[in-house]
Amino acid sequence: MVMVGGIWETPADRCGPQLTFQAVAKPTFKTPKGTRDILPGEADRQRALVAAFGEVARRAGYGHVMTPMFEDLAVFKRLGDSTDVVTKEMYDFEAKDGKRYALRPELTASVVRAFVQHRPLIPWKVWYEGPQFRYERPQAGRYRQFSQVGVEALGTDDPAIDAEIVALAWNFYKTLGLSEVTLLLNSLGDPTCRPAYIEALTAYFQENFDSLSEQSQFTLQVNPLRVLDSKRPDDQPIIDAAPVMVDYLSPETGEHFGGVRRVLDRLDIPYVISPRLVRGLDYYTRTTFEFVSTALPGSQNAIGGGGRYDALAADLGGPDTPGIGFALGVDRILIACDEEGVFAPPTSLVDVFLIDATGGDEAAVIGAQLQAVGIATDRAYDARSMRAQFKVADKSGASLAVVVGDEELATGTAQIRTLLGQEREQTSVARTTLIEELKKRLT
Ligand code: AMP
Repeated sequence: MVMVGGIWETPADRCGPQLTFQAVAKPTFKTPKGTRDILPGEADRQRALVAAFGEVARRAGYGHVMTPMFEDLAVFKRLGDSTDVVTKEMYDFEAKDGKRYALRPELTASVVRAFVQHRPLIPWKVWYEGPQFRYERPQAGRYRQFSQVGVEALGTDDPAIDAEIVALAWNFYKTLGLSEVTLLLNSLGDPTCRPAYIEALTAYFQENFDSLSEQSQFTLQVNPLRVLDSKRPDDQPIIDAAPVMVDYLSPETGEHFGGVRRVLDRLDIPYVISPRLVRGLDYYTRTTFEFVSTALPGSQNAIGGGGRYDALAADLGGPDTPGIGFALGVDRILIACDEEGVFAPPTSLVDVFLIDATGGDEAAVIGAQLQAVGIATDRAYDARSMRAQFKVADKSGASLAVVVGDEELATGTAQIRTLLGQEREQTSVARTTLIEELKKRLT
């Protein structure tokens, strides 16, 4: 934003014409730590991203699902007791009814709870979007309220759906124009083969106990697998030499993983096998994956991830039902888009700007007519001077202005004026043909 004559102005190329803010030296109230207002322009971009995601998901047969922003705390507790999201970051509270709830920190648990509650036909393929809440230490790309888009598919463990889901995320990134994305892929095994691996892993970490960070020494007691997820530099040499799950996969699990990889190969989706990828939540089994943006700094480069959670539905009181899904971080994807110079915010929210020298009523009437036929239209208010109205029109990003003065009113005409480019052309048209003439010029 820049200061213009005591007014804060958002660059006209990012936002619409009404977006000028009075300078406020010290606002009384501000957004809570780790949260932010997403203003017009950027919020419109976020909405376009969600729409693009919904379209990619719809084409693959996923229906939109919406669940409450808060749930019974116990739903999220099922995510595991070695998960930071559950133990440290939950926004939980006691409501007036004396029950404990939590603002959702993620959507998989809510979607699986909904599946168990409604028992829809399987396979149940759904997509979602919306804010999540985690009490994290805020930094660039990490917020306490952030948005995700994601999908979940319950009711089949066909490796084809694992590949379909990974491909869906991959295609979505491509739709946005992102190219610096790496897919990391792993299998975490299943209850038949994971115990032997955990045993080997635990023994290995015990041997190297003194070299582990204090946090990892604690994590080891709760869930040895999660030690692999430590980002602490002092843990890295130990983690790098740790046994890997892929060496312990049972023939069935190995075959399943092979099936996922085969389909991804057929779809020409490149991946990097990442044997120490365990992801932040405890419920994952078999296929797990993460997308990192090489355009972002290492600490916040995860732009999405997911995996299979074959035990979660039963854990939430439902029938034994395999499931798989992912969540992508909207805020971080948009930062990656900025870094790569793709999926820019809209340059304008409107096509046409109305300039009314008759007092304002004509702008109201023409505005309603144009909006009714789908032409995005804005105008100035407060019967401002023509000069002032033209100034706002120029900043609006609209490509055309419609100008009406007393003469046009008397002759049943309007002027169409080009706003963008060096040469400004102005043509007089009959009011009866205005819509037709505008449509011609806007296509
Ligand atoms: P997770 O549910 O932890 O696997 O997160 C999925 C994606 O959501 C991550 O890859 C990030 O892109 C994004 N994400 C997770 N936590 C945050 C946060 N606190 N702020 C912004 N984005 C986040």
